[in-house]
Amino acid sequence: MPGMPSQDLSSSPFPLPEALQRRLVEAGEQLGLSPSETMERALNRLLRDPHGSAVYLSSPVDALMKGLYEENTTIGDLKRHGDFGLGTFNDLDGEMVMVDGKVYQLRDDGGAYEVGDDVKTPFACVTFFRPMSTDEIDGELDYAGFKNLLDRIIPSENMFFAIRIDGEFEHISGWTVPKQECQRPIAEVKPCPFEYRQITGMLAGFYAPRFIKSFVMSGYHLHFLSADRRVGGHLYQCRPTRLHISLQFISKLELSLPITLDYLTAKLL
Ligand SMILES: [Zn+2]
Repeated sequence: MPGMPSQDLSSSPFPLPEALQRRLVEAGEQLGLSPSETMERALNRLLRDPHGSAVYLSSPVDALMKGLYEENTTIGDLKRHGDFGLGTFNDLDGEMVMVDGKVYQLRDDGGAYEVGDDVKTPFACVTFFRPMSTDEIDGELDYAGFKNLLDRIIPSENMFFAIRIDGEFEHISGWTVPKQECQRPIAEVKPCPFEYRQITGMLAGFYAPRFIKSFVMSGYHLHFLSADRRVGGHLYQCRPTRLHISLQFISKLELSLPITLDYLTAKLL
């Protein structure tokens, strides 16, 4: 509040050089604000999406984890909520990636196949992708270095971020899921691994806050699609050599609850 004693920002999660702190105090004094309030205003301007985008979840991921692999959301429905994202398909028939408004099925044969609007999904997480920051990184990174880089780029662990990474990879590995005939819990499904060397492509997905894990996978969740859009899957590890990272900050969540008999009668806890 104006008039409150100035707070020391050197111990804040955003440590600032002394000269910048002084300027923040001066700017705050002119506006009648404390340095923290001045900084909060600046962050608000930086992080608030002018379009008010939301992360849209077609169902809570906990339902998928319990084996509810059939839902009535179509890809057409999904496209009304976003043009970018990931998920899976009914009967767990492969991983899904959505880029530039096109949806690809990343099947257990390793191939990527564009799908039509009538195909159904039991779980998907999408948004309209409008990146607010970009970074170019050159030089080889191991997977720990890659994760560290992402941790440094996201400004807070408590927001959503849509992440698109176009890059060259010395090595990349991951998996897709095979179609399931029965509702066996996802932990019992045997994934189909993939591995590529010297490949160009894109990672698309989200960072979600840790506390939100009943709704959506928390932390980083990225799906790979090769530049020729012919192969891909869920990212496990990678060793990139060149990266172009686009990031969208999102502070809103929209959750849809399925209206299916399976979901309405499931014991989710
Ligand atoms: Zn995945």
